[in-house]
Amino acid sequence: MKEYPIKKNEEHTVEILDLTHEGMGIAKFDHYPVFIENALPGEKVRIKILKVGNKFGFAKVMEWLEKSPDRQTVDNEDLLRTGIAPLSHLSYEKQLLFKQNQVKNLMQRVAKLPDVPVLNTIGMAAPYHYRNKAQIPVKKVEGKLQTGFYRKNSHDLVPIEDFAIQDPEIDKAILVVRDILQRFNVKAYNEEAHEGFLRHIVIRRGHYSHQMMVVLVTRKEKFFKGEEIANVIHEELPEVVSVIQNINEEKTNVILGQKEKVLFGSSFIEDQLLGNTYRISAKSFYQVNTQQTEILYQTAIDFADLKKDDVVIDAYSGIGTIGLSVADRVKYVYGMETIESAVEDAKYNAEKNGITNATYLVGKAEKVMPQWAREEVNPTVIFVDPPRKGLDAKFIEAACEVEPERIVYISCNPATLARDLAFFAEKGYQTKKIQPVDLFPQTHHIECVALITRMD
Ligand code: SAH
Repeated sequence: MKEYPIKKNEEHTVEILDLTHEGMGIAKFDHYPVFIENALPGEKVRIKILKVGNKFGFAKVMEWLEKSPDRQTVDNEDLLRTGIAPLSHLSYEKQLLFKQNQVKNLMQRVAKLPDVPVLNTIGMAAPYHYRNKAQIPVKKVEGKLQTGFYRKNSHDLVPIEDFAIQDPEIDKAILVVRDILQRFNVKAYNEEAHEGFLRHIVIRRGHYSHQMMVVLVTRKEKFFKGEEIANVIHEELPEVVSVIQNINEEKTNVILGQKEKVLFGSSFIEDQLLGNTYRISAKSFYQVNTQQTEILYQTAIDFADLKKDDVVIDAYSGIGTIGLSVADRVKYVYGMETIESAVEDAKYNAEKNGITNATYLVGKAEKVMPQWAREEVNPTVIFVDPPRKGLDAKFIEAACEVEPERIVYISCNPATLARDLAFFAEKGYQTKKIQPVDLFPQTHHIECVALITRMD
């Protein structure tokens, strides 16, 4: 058996050397790393070893012997434990620096482009209560419906009422909806047994419109008194304009299923971004931090340096928010996206905002981009905004083939961004600068905009 420098349940005094990209403190025994929640670089802590794994271990803090000057008070440690706000013990100023440094490191180590300027992270003046969406698991605890969040790496529900980073109106609504469902004796889903009924409560609230959507995710289609319940939700929460039942019969961690039914009101809510109005359906992606999204998009638009005769591609377009924000200052916008309801939203949104020079279609970016290259769409500017896994090599090849002048890459994962920027460099496209924008204060998530231009 392999020898490790530490054993489970041992206590040690260590100094924290660094933070993982998920915000855990790192201590080392010889070269063996141990990850510790709620511990910051420079702190001296007494720890108890919880787990000794093959390549690394986990420990918890028993006592802080020396605290970091960068530490801020955490009112509710459940926010760390559940991973809702895993950086909330670090001062906000240092969170912004931490994110900028992560991007710099990845640009050196992964992209091998150490000279690309990574600008200071743009933060929020009030970095709490920003989320316009909550996805809350429901469980039966002591005979009652309980809402909260899972402890990290587990499916143990920790009851939480104040989520700190969500719109407080959403926090309140979760409790109202929970209590109504309890009154109607709705059974919670039991994950282990794959029994019971109600899996998640998903709530969205328009930052400007204050329109609310409540999605009840159920294991079965038959919903006893579903419409009556939806009506009561609307009566007790007048902002609710849409109650949807989403049916997810699978044994899965994926929250939403394919099938849905409107139980009350409309199938979407509306909200505004940079002056346009957007309809948002339950299954469509919509950035969770509206205030910072406007800054993110404005940064992307500034980087794109648009001209009247530009032909623009909005790849990974969601409900069309990026392309439709620029349509009035360019010649034409082409967008694509895989989720059908999001593309329907994008088409509706174009019409709703009086935009006639934009086309949106359903398809994978890595399939549609080569097709557009063959059809000689000839874009001058391409916006990309992929999910965490980043761009497909086929997409990058096709995008470079059509020789746009500028590519603006919006990324929610700096690791795949760095990988993709290295590939763009091979294809003759140079990264000019990267602007991190903090869309997710108190968490470790990092959003960036990169400007990529064609080398002469
Ligand atoms: N630009 C939008 C959406 C960004 S999120 C906004 O700012 O709101 C990324 C989007 O890419 C999601 O809507 C997701 O459904 C979509 N997507 C995921 N994989 C894709 C693929 N292979 N091709 C095109 N779109 C994809």
